[in-house]
Amino acid sequence: MQDHRIRSVVIVGGGTAGWMTAAALVQHFRSTPVSITLIESSEIGAVGVGEATIPTIRRFYAQLGMTDDAVMRATQATCKLGIRFLDWSAPGSDFIHPFGHYGQDVRGTGFHHYWLKQRQAGDDTPLAAYSLGAALAAAGKFALPAPNPPTQLSVFDWALHFDAALFAQHMRAYAEAGGCTRIDARIRSVEQRPEDGFIRAVTLDDGREVEGDLFVDCSGFRSLLLGEALGVRFEDWGRWLPCDAAFAVQSRNRPGDAPAPFTRVTARSAGWQWGIPLRHRAGNGLVFSSAHLSDDQVLAELMPHLLGDPLTEPRRIPFRPGRRAQAWSRNCVAIGLSAGFLEPLESTSIALIETGVARLKQLFPDRRFAPAVIDEYNDQSAREMERVRDFIILHYKLNRRTDSAFWRDCREMTVPDTLQRKIDLWTARGEFVRYRWEMFHPASWLAIYDGFGVHPDDYDPAVDAMTPADLERGLRDMRDNIARLVASTPDHAQYLAALDRG
Ligand code: FAD
Repeated sequence: MQDHRIRSVVIVGGGTAGWMTAAALVQHFRSTPVSITLIESSEIGAVGVGEATIPTIRRFYAQLGMTDDAVMRATQATCKLGIRFLDWSAPGSDFIHPFGHYGQDVRGTGFHHYWLKQRQAGDDTPLAAYSLGAALAAAGKFALPAPNPPTQLSVFDWALHFDAALFAQHMRAYAEAGGCTRIDARIRSVEQRPEDGFIRAVTLDDGREVEGDLFVDCSGFRSLLLGEALGVRFEDWGRWLPCDAAFAVQSRNRPGDAPAPFTRVTARSAGWQWGIPLRHRAGNGLVFSSAHLSDDQVLAELMPHLLGDPLTEPRRIPFRPGRRAQAWSRNCVAIGLSAGFLEPLESTSIALIETGVARLKQLFPDRRFAPAVIDEYNDQSAREMERVRDFIILHYKLNRRTDSAFWRDCREMTVPDTLQRKIDLWTARGEFVRYRWEMFHPASWLAIYDGFGVHPDDYDPAVDAMTPADLERGLRDMRDNIARLVASTPDHAQYLAALDRG
């Protein structure tokens, strides 16, 4: 029988995507004859941003045998319980999108229906009072979740804010220790087989050729292999995602400032500003629509609101929201920015790297590159990114700001049908359309609908089976439970100090 197995994988690019892919593949193929080579150009460098994550990152590195403590120490990380949105719905508005549940479902009916009924009765207790994650974040506290949470109320999840360069180094150390070969060189050209256009090799600046069976394009926005060489079309989503550039700047922590256990995102006149607290510094930036704001205007909005004193010069990073129509073509799979980028809100880009790598492992091809495998990969990737896209668009669509043309345009835009269906079901019935390959679950959608003040007219009538007095008591018990848990949790800063002491 002929052996069709892949023997060599060449990863092009050594940013977060390249090194995460290398680490995961080295682990997946340990003790097999598959060689992994990564080519990166230290002259070109990596994009150097991407510091806020979602909890799936912890599952990613756990699979490599890495502990939270080890990764946090290696990357100057802080804990992230969610994202705090300031001024989004309207100037002065403030809510947290936590990782985790709200309240406790009762007899199969979602908690939010009970909360909606109580709200209709005039109780203005915020939804956040029923989320341990949101309550801990608001109080600046952090402890690891209970391993076996006694109730749904004790459930929350967490992620990391980390230094992207240190994280890539950590992944690199793992990959190289596991046998990945690194080549530091600029790729000059991509060599394709004349008969079918498959990539045969890449040629480096010094004339060397690096051949491979499978190429993983992690070359960043340029999409050197998939986009440039194989000509896979870019699907532009700019009509829904209005921001197309960012200024990023690092700041020095002020003595005594305790890092918040959440990412801060503040709406500005034509975009939004991020603040990501790390141990040794903070990451800041403003994502904006260049059609609405000049660079000078952006800097005037960004610089007075840094998390500390500026440490670097602001760096402009243009981008185009959208994705390559196929993430996989012939013998080339794109992972990371080369496959597409939405924008940094909700910190989904690194998570999409994780799912891209997981999918590649699951659907790993042989040298026949069966169309069924490629089609499945492409279908799953497309659906997943569309779902994330819709979730991000929601944040723009639901705004009620009246202070600029940007926000008015966002509110008036026609959104994708898949999203409109979701909004319609929520407002009509307080329920969630669930598609396949969703990264964000109903609790996240609930956080955003509520944070923007969009509620259904009515609650599920099943809730009426509970008497008003029982409802009130049940909700109070849940709140008290959460408040007690928060009171007994140490400050985030104490958690980090304990981590330092080991
Ligand atoms: P890059 O980091 O650009 O790496 C590309 C690699 O390819 C480099 O090593 C480069 O040297 C190499 N390369 C390119 N051309 C050649 C060549 N010719 N020869 C050899 N090598 C070459 N994601 C999140 O999850 N959370 C966030 O908070 C977040 N914030 C962001 C903020 C902004 C403003 C932007 C733009 C992105 C943000 N992202 C975020 C996305 C995140 O930064 C990326 O997903 C992540 O860094 C992965 O990038 P990459 O590895 O695909 O590309």
